Amino acid sequence: MTTTDLAPDTSHLRPDERELLGRVCTGLHIAGHWRPAASGTTFDVEDPATGLVIARVADAGEVDGMDALDAAVEAQGAWARTPPRERGEILRSAFERVVELADDFALLMTLEMGKPLAEALGEVTYGAEFLRWFSEEAVRISGRYATAPDGVSRLLVHKRPVGPCLFITPWNFPLAMATRKIAPAVAAGCTMVIKPPNLTPLTTLLLTQVFEEVGLPPGVLNVVPTSRAREVTAPLLRDDRLRKLSFTGSTPVGRSLLKDAADTVLRTSMELGGNAPFLVFEDADLDAAVAGAMKAKLRNMGEACTAANRFVVHESVAAEFGSRLAAEMADLTVARGTDEGSQIGPLIDARSRDGVHELVTDATAQGAEVLTGGQLPEGSGYFYPPTVLVGVAPGARVLQEEIFGPVAPIVTFATEAEAVQLANATEYGLAAYVFTRDLARALRLAETIEAGMLGVNSGIISNPAAPFGGVKQSGLGREGGFEGIEEYLETRYVGIADPFGV
Ligand code: NAD
Repeated sequence: MTTTDLAPDTSHLRPDERELLGRVCTGLHIAGHWRPAASGTTFDVEDPATGLVIARVADAGEVDGMDALDAAVEAQGAWARTPPRERGEILRSAFERVVELADDFALLMTLEMGKPLAEALGEVTYGAEFLRWFSEEAVRISGRYATAPDGVSRLLVHKRPVGPCLFITPWNFPLAMATRKIAPAVAAGCTMVIKPPNLTPLTTLLLTQVFEEVGLPPGVLNVVPTSRAREVTAPLLRDDRLRKLSFTGSTPVGRSLLKDAADTVLRTSMELGGNAPFLVFEDADLDAAVAGAMKAKLRNMGEACTAANRFVVHESVAAEFGSRLAAEMADLTVARGTDEGSQIGPLIDARSRDGVHELVTDATAQGAEVLTGGQLPEGSGYFYPPTVLVGVAPGARVLQEEIFGPVAPIVTFATEAEAVQLANATEYGLAAYVFTRDLARALRLAETIEAGMLGVNSGIISNPAAPFGGVKQSGLGREGGFEGIEEYLETRYVGIADPFGV
């Protein structure tokens, strides 16, 4: 089932874009088969650079979601018994195939999500690395055998796959947010149902085609795109055959899913929102701090959970940091992600773009000064200019809420204690960044700043070999690193009577 079955008019697209979209299966993928939704309905996917429809995707309902869970449950037993080496080889082949198809994945992400092509290619590398990392982890699942403290009985500790999982993923990193869950689950021997984001479902569908091609058995990965997320996922959460929910998305939706998951005491991983502080101390290398700020703020147009949300800068360097950051941000090319030289693409939709502008308007109404940007552009697409704000009042919403756009509010501090207090004044605790040349201070901040991840003199922290995740209301659990596979394994223990006493 391809877009030719459901295709909208895409005559506004380039021939290569149309050709790629024509190769993406746009149905549901259940028990190894592509099929339409039971209701026969579809939903539209838009190009955020133009607001025009680029694809029409099968719109799963409750019945389809349950079919997908049935398929995952049916496949679980045999999949758990598959040799770890075989599971690892499937992931390795998927890694190689995604890398071969890097240009297709990048263009598809640019079309449905808006990020510039160069950034989309960066995400292909990042997203593919989870497949490679967990292909290597599949064969490293182990346990232990020990003598109990009394010297009599013996303890055997072993790991089992947790069982069928439900994955709910966000639109901002369409490939990486999927591979960060699918890869460790495949490595651990779990089956799964994935509900991709309705704004950017196409990348997950192309990834599913890759898994089909490299021989992932039917029923292991079931995909249910839908415009009615809760209708599809709530019945699964009530079904005690489901053993795990892994969610990446906003904190409010995460909270509500945690409540639903409580009824079946479902094991959960929650990768939620952030409000990352970016601290620049008086001894920082300002060149490095500005370069780091450009990455931490503008990667993915600021639509990243790890995005620097608040710039907390020592009062002695704040003016210079602000003017240099504004000069660099003003120089960027804002254009459709496929255009030559595009550095900043559109935001995901009108609601998101208007929400970002409201935060800027609220800050300026409370006295903030705009050093660059701050104006809603004319024309089609959901573009917003890179914006720097100084003199931001402590109560401004832009400091409290996740901005999810290219806006950098700067506030100042005088002492390290004040910087830490400002950094921690949020219910979030995902990422934080510090720029200082003082090693002892950096190590102190690693302990005093409440964040799951800290970048020291670095504006990028995501790494497949690192445990990604937050503290406080940024979530529960870790993805990536050695820790990532543990989320898909349960620990069991066998107590053995004294082998010498029998
Ligand atoms: P969102 O919470 O609106 O949606 C995330 C996913 O949940 C989507 O697939 C959506 O369709 C689904 N969903 C929404 N309501 C639901 C419901 N009631 N029941 C079941 N599913 C539901 O978030 P978003 O706008 O897609 O993504 C942006 C958010 O994700 C930001 O807050 C960002 O910080 C966060 N995020 C976190 C991480 C992380 O690793 N911590 C990574 C990327 C994004």
